[in-house]
Amino acid sequence: MAVQSLYRRYRPQRFSELKGQEHVVRALKNAVANSREGHAYLFSGPRGTGKTTTARILAKVLNCENSKDGEPCCECGSCLAVQEGNSFDVIELDAASNNGVEDIREIIAAASLGSPGRHKVYILDEVHMLSKGASAALLKTLEEPPSHVVFVLATTDPEKVAETIRSRTQHLQFHLLPVDELEAHVRWVASDAGIDISDESIHAVLRQGGGSARDTLSALELAAATGGMVDEVTPVDEFVDALIEYDAGRLLAAVAHTVNFGRDPRTIVNDLVRHMRDAFLTQMAPELVQLPEDRATEVAAQAGRLGTPRIVKVIETLGLAINDMRNAPDSRVVLEVALVRLVHRELQMGIESLLARVERLEKELENRPQIAPAPVNPSTGRAVLGGRVAQDPSAPAVRPEPTPAAAPASTSAMSIAAVIENWNDGVIGELKGMRRAVALMAKPTERDGQLVLMVDNEPSAKRVNEYLSDLSTVIYKVAGGKCVIVVETRSEEPRAPKAKVVEEVAEEEFVDIEEIKQLPTVSNKATETNLADAFPGSEILAEDA
Ligand SMILES: [Zn+2]
Repeated sequence: MAVQSLYRRYRPQRFSELKGQEHVVRALKNAVANSREGHAYLFSGPRGTGKTTTARILAKVLNCENSKDGEPCCECGSCLAVQEGNSFDVIELDAASNNGVEDIREIIAAASLGSPGRHKVYILDEVHMLSKGASAALLKTLEEPPSHVVFVLATTDPEKVAETIRSRTQHLQFHLLPVDELEAHVRWVASDAGIDISDESIHAVLRQGGGSARDTLSALELAAATGGMVDEVTPVDEFVDALIEYDAGRLLAAVAHTVNFGRDPRTIVNDLVRHMRDAFLTQMAPELVQLPEDRATEVAAQAGRLGTPRIVKVIETLGLAINDMRNAPDSRVVLEVALVRLVHRELQMGIESLLARVERLEKELENRPQIAPAPVNPSTGRAVLGGRVAQDPSAPAVRPEPTPAAAPASTSAMSIAAVIENWNDGVIGELKGMRRAVALMAKPTERDGQLVLMVDNEPSAKRVNEYLSDLSTVIYKVAGGKCVIVVETRSEEPRAPKAKVVEEVAEEEFVDIEEIKQLPTVSNKATETNLADAFPGSEILAEDA
């Protein structure tokens, strides 16, 4: 005799047997009892929370010969046919594998035929995977649904279902089960199926199931098959310890170990996010933690060592990794990079760390020794190009003398004149983005053999100084060599200008605007998606909800 999986064997057959989805059950039972069922439902929620099971119960009760109070009898021919999966009234389609327009057309053609007095229920699983054409075909049918046809569209990702389709459905949301409810269910199933299992194994099973009834029963089945042994498939504690210790090597070893164990990187990252969410909740809202008590205590201790800001950082970074994995050829690399980024302080790419870098650089620039303007080489009487000569101990002694007020046009002055003359085409024209915007703030003039960049106010001066290294590269090209560049605000007295000599500042010390552009966008949409990804099973509530 083939062993029936626990999940199938204990699959709810009536609305009253569904666990943890009371709001859905109430809505559907009332609708059926009053013959006011809708033509199209959208069931959304995490996997294994009973979406297709509920759709089948709905199909059963709509065609049941002896339905009572919105529940099927589960004994009549129609009910048994649905239960055995050979009813002609229930058509299930997995949109993930049949997502083409032809598949949908076929369904629609069949739907329009109908059978008098009976309800046909079409269950489209993973409906967000439908192609554009198929979605359009489905939408047409939903606009004018044949009578006696009920569409149940199931999805784990309602945000990806076209709004036009969503708006024509009744949207019912399924939730992960509360841990106590699931634990009671697991214990009941275990005893009913004659599985002898320790408390410890039950808790491991619940942890693996993560609130999904299907995953939990699968884990229980596996535990039963291995004599109560439960493998913690993703060793989340090992990952968290490595994060706490800032140990990249240990993280990568944990990834390797887990992947070798047959765990998909996408699953690993989801396991980690789920765990970090629990850790976050132990700090912010312990009453919402859905973990057995001893485990909750352990996780709270971890969370305390990691600290809430880092927990949030981990959730954000891994949430982005989940997104990135969708388009990445190798999801393991995405996971590894995300994890290493979390323990490599220099690689942390948050806006805060960028701001911190900007601040640090500003301080460094302020503390940089101020150098006298344009030193003159006594042997030639000419201003020395570039400011570094005076600082170079190996260079022949050069006395920084004030440049004669009415010096004859020096090379420097001539090249600076070239810069001023070609400011628009030669300098601004060569710059892009933020650098260009910054250059536009400055008006170049020449004074005492120096290029003076005049700006209107202090904030502008700050911006120009920030990008001075990039500007100077272009300026030197136009000037045909280095020159002293001074940034001044108009209000400043021309005397004793704060000379800022540009040196070869390493490119990576400057914040690159492209880097900032590539940061995660913070539009509401993206945030919602990230949140939804970071908190599997969560739903975004409108503020007025
Ligand atoms: Zn029946």
